[in-house]
Amino acid sequence: MQELRWNPVLKWWVMVSDGREKRPLTPEKNCPFCPGSGKVPDSYDVLPYANDFPILSPNPPAPVPVDSTLYRNAKSFGKCEVILYSQEHALSFGDLPQGNVDKLIDLWIEKYRELGAMDRIRYVFIFENRGKEVGVTITHPHGQIYGFPFIPKKIELELASCKEYFEREKKNLYLEILHEELNDGRRIVDENGPFVTFVPYFAEYPYQVHIIPRVLRLSIDEFGDEEKRQLGRSLTRIVTVYNHVFNREFPYMMSLGQKPTDGDDYPYYQFHIEFFPLLRNEKTQKFNASSETATWTHGNPSSPEQKAAELRTIKEKLYGVR
Ligand SMILES: [Zn+2]
Repeated sequence: MQELRWNPVLKWWVMVSDGREKRPLTPEKNCPFCPGSGKVPDSYDVLPYANDFPILSPNPPAPVPVDSTLYRNAKSFGKCEVILYSQEHALSFGDLPQGNVDKLIDLWIEKYRELGAMDRIRYVFIFENRGKEVGVTITHPHGQIYGFPFIPKKIELELASCKEYFEREKKNLYLEILHEELNDGRRIVDENGPFVTFVPYFAEYPYQVHIIPRVLRLSIDEFGDEEKRQLGRSLTRIVTVYNHVFNREFPYMMSLGQKPTDGDDYPYYQFHIEFFPLLRNEKTQKFNASSETATWTHGNPSSPEQKAAELRTIKEKLYGVR
């Protein structure tokens, strides 16, 4: 059984699939993403890989009929893809050679366009889960892409806030946040020509960062060559900085926020990348507990200003002041 089920209380879709319980837990010894596995070419740099256990698919089964006036379901139409960052099993994103990062960004662009052009895909979600703390079963460096047949609830909320702000203030909400952060300066971690990396004032997690372009860009395919190069640099630098915080591979969730692909215009939105890191100290994990999960109210056990200073100090040690 694989279908979307509608939650009428929260007004969002839940992806339900009972086949995923059969996912192998630790295929460490036989990594499917390593050359020689028979599942990938003998040599590659970046590679799109069809998800072996897709929760959304282009040809989904018919949903189980539901005899109810309250409940409804829908076909789990969509796309789930894996993006392999390198053929090297033990490489961290932060250690990816610039050539791989450039190719990765081009592949993200290609997939954003390809999936976004599919009739029923309304939102292309590019993301990475890193570390066993996030439930990652394969440590080989990789990210994922979901092509959703709907605009996810949280994105819907972001779009509504941006639209409301734009109509009221005639300004872009994300760019105003960036302006506010640059003016204050205490939470800035890293900067280059086109991008700024900072711990937001309202950070929910210790070490959480946003990466935002300084000018209006709605999706990753709007970046020019130099912007793409600098975006790759911002990404590898923050992951490297993370890995130096506790001198271990830092587990995180990373997501790209972009314009939906449902054909509408969203001139008030802004491309942004968010990192949700999952450690509060070397050994203690930051969990989403009752408050976070049931009420969406986060308790951040740290000062965003202090955490930004910590990350900035490591960045300066590794890369210099600029
Ligand atoms: Zn591998």
